[in-house]
Amino acid sequence: MTSHTAAVVGSGPNGLAAAVVLARAGIRTTVYEGADTIGGGARTAELTVPGYRHDVGSAVHPLAVASGFFRRFELARRIELVTPEISYAHPLDGRPAAIAYRDLDRTAEHLGVDGAAWRNLLGPLVERAQKVAQFTGSSLLRVPAHPLTTALFGLRALEQGTLAWNLRWRDAAAPALLSGVAAHSVRPMPSLSTSGTALALATAAHAGGWPIPIGGSQAIIDALADDVRAHGGSIETGVEITDIAQLGPVDAVLLDTTPRALVRLAGEALPSSYRARMLAYRHGDGVAKVDFALSGPVPWRDPALHAAPTLHLGGTRDRIAAAEAEVARGRHADDPYVLVSQPSVVDAARAPAGHHVLWSYTHVPHGSTLDQTDAIIRQIERWAPGFRDVIIASSSATAMDMQRQNPNYVGGDIATGAATLWQLAARPTLSLDPWRTPMPGVYLCSSATPPGPGVHGLAGAYAARSALRHEFGIERLPYLGITEGDH
Ligand SMILES: Cc1cc2nc3c(=O)[nH]c(=O)nc-3n(C[C@H](O)[C@H](O)[C@H](O)COP(=O)(O)OP(=O)(O)OC[C@H]3O[C@@H](n4cnc5c(N)ncnc54)[C@H](O)[C@@H]3O)c2cc1C
Repeated sequence: MTSHTAAVVGSGPNGLAAAVVLARAGIRTTVYEGADTIGGGARTAELTVPGYRHDVGSAVHPLAVASGFFRRFELARRIELVTPEISYAHPLDGRPAAIAYRDLDRTAEHLGVDGAAWRNLLGPLVERAQKVAQFTGSSLLRVPAHPLTTALFGLRALEQGTLAWNLRWRDAAAPALLSGVAAHSVRPMPSLSTSGTALALATAAHAGGWPIPIGGSQAIIDALADDVRAHGGSIETGVEITDIAQLGPVDAVLLDTTPRALVRLAGEALPSSYRARMLAYRHGDGVAKVDFALSGPVPWRDPALHAAPTLHLGGTRDRIAAAEAEVARGRHADDPYVLVSQPSVVDAARAPAGHHVLWSYTHVPHGSTLDQTDAIIRQIERWAPGFRDVIIASSSATAMDMQRQNPNYVGGDIATGAATLWQLAARPTLSLDPWRTPMPGVYLCSSATPPGPGVHGLAGAYAARSALRHEFGIERLPYLGITEGDH
């Protein structure tokens, strides 16, 4: 350990990933977390009744297994991840649900007339899944390391992100299946940001799969925190940082915060043009989340859905696009898109024997204060009549509750910044090193920096690498894998 010091503000997956890299490089690192528990958007807690463990934020982790940071960290050897046969499912009215199996061929077979078109769209990306993950997991301003993969991805994103998006499909199931993942970006569709999100997530679905951590997303956070501590770092909870001066004399400061918080924390120390750009950074629409404790499994009408840990509700492509357009217009959709995770179908320890937990959220206008419990129950009941009867308890968070729980989720925006095409390239500003701020020694490391939202730790790792290079003259990424005594 050197005498160099670093402070990380925020213990989300990016803050902790940054702390792992710094601590492993021998920098004395302290993490400060404003909440009473660590983990930000990847915590697990008993939100409803004791004995039922709910993911407060992230539930499904395709980005973690595809992430170069977590691969180096050997996450899969540190925690137990279950990769289900079904990556995600999409119930449709009056017909069997569309299902994205981990196996691409099985999915194509199941999609019938559109099977070949599905295979043709995703097959070339699935064959190059690691290169796709490298491209989508870095700054869009970097020269692509794999131009062919980038071109294959780009052409498909153009097709599925413009009015040509329906040309290849003959039936409703495949486009609905793709729109279910496109809607993760909380943007009107079709657009290049929704199609890029859809292709990245669908590729992961057929490559590494959509894994669920046993014990919840907290398992990922605890593995990161254990590693920070094992390498001399420390973590303090219940400490909200309101001014960078509060951190005392440290060589580097990494902020797992919003760009606006950077302005608040740095005060006049930032040049006015940079401050103006940070204040102009746009936050997107919000989510309203509802967690349920259930006395039994969800009574899905289609029995195939019992084994699906992740589901997208909302029906056909047109209906999902209409729901997302309503939200973008500032209205609550009557027929909303709802994301559902039922992790207890693969992790029995989340609830008492025979019981289940169900995690759900829907998109709402930025800053919404409307409780969405009834809207979500109504939408689940459409495909699972009798759902209401298995509910023991529920816990609801409006978009503004999301912001109160985590200051990074401004107005309920869980991506910490609207996923517009511009803000995917210029996140939080147009720069080849967007993590480094003009204030000496100060870096942003949250999902407001590339590659954006998700539990991948990459934004934190990139920011830490930049800090190592510029503040400590360390060019090499330290070894991040399991060393003797890590367990
Ligand atoms: C409901 C929900 C569902 C999601 N589902 C998924 C999913 O299934 N899969 C997936 O990959 N991703 C998912 N995500 C997104 C993912 O959780 C986030 O992209 C990720 O957590 C971002 O990590 P981060 O470290 O940048 O920030 P965060 O996780 O938001 O952490 C930031 C931390 O910094 C702390 N902080 C902020 N300001 C201060 C301050 N001034 N002083 C001290 N502490 C401060 C906050 O309290 C917080 O703990 C979901 C998010 C939510 C909320």
